[in-house]
Amino acid sequence: MLDFLGNLKRTHYCGHLRANDADHHALVMGWVARRRDLGNLLFLDVRDRTGIVQVVFNKESEPVAHAKAEQARSEFVVAIEGHVVRRQKPNPEIGTGEVEIMASKLFILNNAKTPPFPIDEEINAAEETRLRYRYLDLRRPKPHKNIVLRHKIVLEIRKAMDEMGFLEVETPMLTRSTPEGARDYLVPSRVHHGQFYALPQSPQIFKQILMIGGLDRYFQIVKCFRDEDLRADRQPEFTQLDLEMSFPRQEDIFAVIENVMVRACGVAGVTVTGPFPHMLYKDAVRKYGSDKPDLRFGMELHEVTACFPDEAKQKLQIEGNVFAFAAPGAAGYSRKQLDELAERAKSVGARGAYFVKVAPEGATSAVEKLIGADNVQKLGALCAAKPGDLVVAVSAKQQVQGTEAAALVAGQLRLSLGDALKQIDRSQWKFLWITGFPLFEWSDTDKAWVSAQHPFTGIVDEDVEKLETAPWEVRSKGYDLVLNGYELGSGSIRIHRQDIQERLFKALGLSEEQLRKRFGFFIDALTYGTPPHGGIALGVDRIAMLLSGEKSLREVIAFPKTTAAQDLMADSPSDVDQVQLEQLGITIKGQ
Ligand code: ASP
Repeated sequence: MLDFLGNLKRTHYCGHLRANDADHHALVMGWVARRRDLGNLLFLDVRDRTGIVQVVFNKESEPVAHAKAEQARSEFVVAIEGHVVRRQKPNPEIGTGEVEIMASKLFILNNAKTPPFPIDEEINAAEETRLRYRYLDLRRPKPHKNIVLRHKIVLEIRKAMDEMGFLEVETPMLTRSTPEGARDYLVPSRVHHGQFYALPQSPQIFKQILMIGGLDRYFQIVKCFRDEDLRADRQPEFTQLDLEMSFPRQEDIFAVIENVMVRACGVAGVTVTGPFPHMLYKDAVRKYGSDKPDLRFGMELHEVTACFPDEAKQKLQIEGNVFAFAAPGAAGYSRKQLDELAERAKSVGARGAYFVKVAPEGATSAVEKLIGADNVQKLGALCAAKPGDLVVAVSAKQQVQGTEAAALVAGQLRLSLGDALKQIDRSQWKFLWITGFPLFEWSDTDKAWVSAQHPFTGIVDEDVEKLETAPWEVRSKGYDLVLNGYELGSGSIRIHRQDIQERLFKALGLSEEQLRKRFGFFIDALTYGTPPHGGIALGVDRIAMLLSGEKSLREVIAFPKTTAAQDLMADSPSDVDQVQLEQLGITIKGQ
């Protein structure tokens, strides 16, 4: 027989009880975390959001309560009344370890099936099982802690934005396509057969229109949707801190974000200070082989093309530049380890990987016959390699216009070797602004220049005239914020003039008709007095992931999707009734 909650009122949260609560009456509610039956004494650990408290049932003094406790099982929902007492043997492992509750009454409010995995701090259940039974997983301390931290971060962000005069404005979820470079999630319209809403890839157009609407400073903690292939640090629906401001200089936007990030880190106990350093995109690529460099360690790249004479280049089929770096202490790598490294280099796009081992008596290399002893020494010197280091040099398979392909390959090896050689100082928090991006990038799939960010990104004033003639030279007014090798988000000063926005769309190959059809309303809005404006969006899930020390976004999202874009608990996506399809005028092919 289950008990009713009736008029029972909780007096304390389980995890809050401390020594100074001793000798007080308490009524706690929660789940049975553990039961130990020692005959005369029966112990229940009771858990709620705040933690666990030990409850003791004494057969002699409280026979009724004790008998009832014998029926309690793991994850039963209970209310317990009793007296808080000091423990004879405190347990320093838990916050409530100095006390326990001597129970006088037990109410069993609900029972529970045996959970498919134990509700413990560390479990070895498969992630799929955890996600299928997410409600049980959420009872564990770690997911709990992550959700609490995320709440605190978001709350602090909201406070900071409000204090800086930003208004939180909601923008539509049922809208039309926003060009952020991903596929749209579409929602069929019942009222307008054959027509679709798109879920927003971002509120980009709406926030710019809010500036035209005179709102001056907008922000939103907002869900965005992108139908992309997923990775550990991507989700089909994700949350952004999205903001836009009128009449800003780039440094004004940076100052806003620095303030927000310093405060968000602060609630996670991480001390950082602004202003954050800046780096040009091309320097990031040449020095770190990445547009999101991890500055927690060195191992910087150096261009070493000059160490490869023409003849060697031909033999090794080297096309573009060669980039290299010194891997500290890796001169002792075995033949097998070097072969593995070369394989890894090839798998990320290298044509060749060349190694130089540096010893106190000089540098040696298998390519010495091809490039000569002097060049081997030079490779070591250019990378500032010390005795004991291994110089890793790579050339790249594909030469993409405007990029240093070999640097990008070397950048990936730098990251994996940096990790393997324990070079990354994990106590550091290295923020970085990247600026000076090109406006366009070449898309091999589309065989066309496409926007490197989105098509509303501002253009460096003196480059506007090259839009039609030399698009690859045009620089954008875009910027990215990077933390410890992760891109936290990007933004830009926007195009606010209608004539330039039209030229940009045309440079992207949109016909007058396409332009009107897709962006007519926005182009029109730009003609009614648009202030210069700019903004940025940061990934809230990513921020929460990094600040909670997790490696997967799924650990900081209450109901995440798998890498196959499924919600295993709610079992979505799913079939729908035939009636629903008919109302929408949709027939599924092949059914
Ligand atoms: N809408 C952009 C994005 O989602 C951010 C921005 O430009 O403000 O990446």
